[in-house]
Amino acid sequence: MTFLNLFLHSNIRNKTAIGVQALQKQGAKSIGVDISVDAQGAAEGAILGQFSFDKLKQKKNDDADNNKVVAPYATESSTDLKRAWEIGQIYGTSQNVARMLMTTPANLMTPKLFAEEVAYLLAGLENVDIKVHDEEWATRQKMNAFLSVARGSTEPLRFLEIHYKGAKDNSEKPFGLVGKGITFDSGGISLKPSNNMHLMKGDMGGAAAVVGALYGICKLHLPVNIVAAIPLCENMPSGKATKPGDVVKAMNGKSIEILNTDAEGRLILADALHYVSSTYQPKHVIDLATLTGAMDVALGEVYAGVFSNSDDLWAKLQNAGEAVADPFWRMPLHEDYIKEMKNSLVADLGNIGTRSGGSCSAAGFLQEFVDKNVPWAHIDIAGVMACNGTKGYHIKGMTGRPTRALIEMMRTAQA
Ligand SMILES: [Zn+2]
Repeated sequence: MTFLNLFLHSNIRNKTAIGVQALQKQGAKSIGVDISVDAQGAAEGAILGQFSFDKLKQKKNDDADNNKVVAPYATESSTDLKRAWEIGQIYGTSQNVARMLMTTPANLMTPKLFAEEVAYLLAGLENVDIKVHDEEWATRQKMNAFLSVARGSTEPLRFLEIHYKGAKDNSEKPFGLVGKGITFDSGGISLKPSNNMHLMKGDMGGAAAVVGALYGICKLHLPVNIVAAIPLCENMPSGKATKPGDVVKAMNGKSIEILNTDAEGRLILADALHYVSSTYQPKHVIDLATLTGAMDVALGEVYAGVFSNSDDLWAKLQNAGEAVADPFWRMPLHEDYIKEMKNSLVADLGNIGTRSGGSCSAAGFLQEFVDKNVPWAHIDIAGVMACNGTKGYHIKGMTGRPTRALIEMMRTAQA
């Protein structure tokens, strides 16, 4: 990790965003951006810095004037620089897609509406096939861990399966992506405190980043095959909701004692990870999830934490994150972290361990459901889910991270 590189890459994005924001405030209608240093970074900063979400307000944000033009001003810009600017625009727009999905309130982004929105976003893009599975399908697949989370809500679950075939060889093994799609997390019967519960509309941040990345990958026509799985449901308390102490058998046959219904992300990911890794034997699989408060305590909103059983996969993520200033920090996987979970008196695993090392035990739990032959990385984005204050390309609110790092990784994966 070269901190200098990370600084340089975030600096160009920040400075461009700050410049564009300042000129917008002055009412500028046409803004020229210098792309001579880093055209892609400048484009990302310009696009990310302009994000706003005002469609539910009566008075729209004047800054978000659609007639405004932000473009490179370099007179002699080469084709390469122009292409890099276009690529950066796609990267930035893709993250804004993820921000939009996360920011939309949970009553307007139910599992059903999320699936419809994704179909709309990816409509007309080449080489994409979207399958929207329902509860009956999940039941046939024996995804009882996923079903146990969805059962407390009156909103029907969805399981999105998206295939992108951009590789020359259609039958080439895909890369797997899995995103946690809890469209609202009340905690279930293990109800969360009401303070800040409204932020739990963003508990589908993993799903949003996967969709944002797919959007960018399709737009860039990247020569890779991808299979993405997104389990979508609400986690709600009700007379039908799963109770602490209930036991369910996951798709891979392991029984889970649900000790805390608020540790639901790992339950829906358990079935989705098993489904993708065993059905498609991907080259590698990456899951993204706003999984643990402990990750926020550990790394805050700067780095997303990565747990991986593959040094090679970690290196790829680290390099991609650094290149686009959307950085990752490696966290440990160790079987001792899940000792406590394996002490359940009635099931193979409990769904929580002790308070200490909560992110590490969550990652260890997930590993129990990934096919052993598939390199895997789990990205806990709970800390980077939301940004507390606008600073350059970081806009206050839901972040849509790490959409750009995922696209960058896929773009360099085949290079
Ligand atoms: Zn939860």
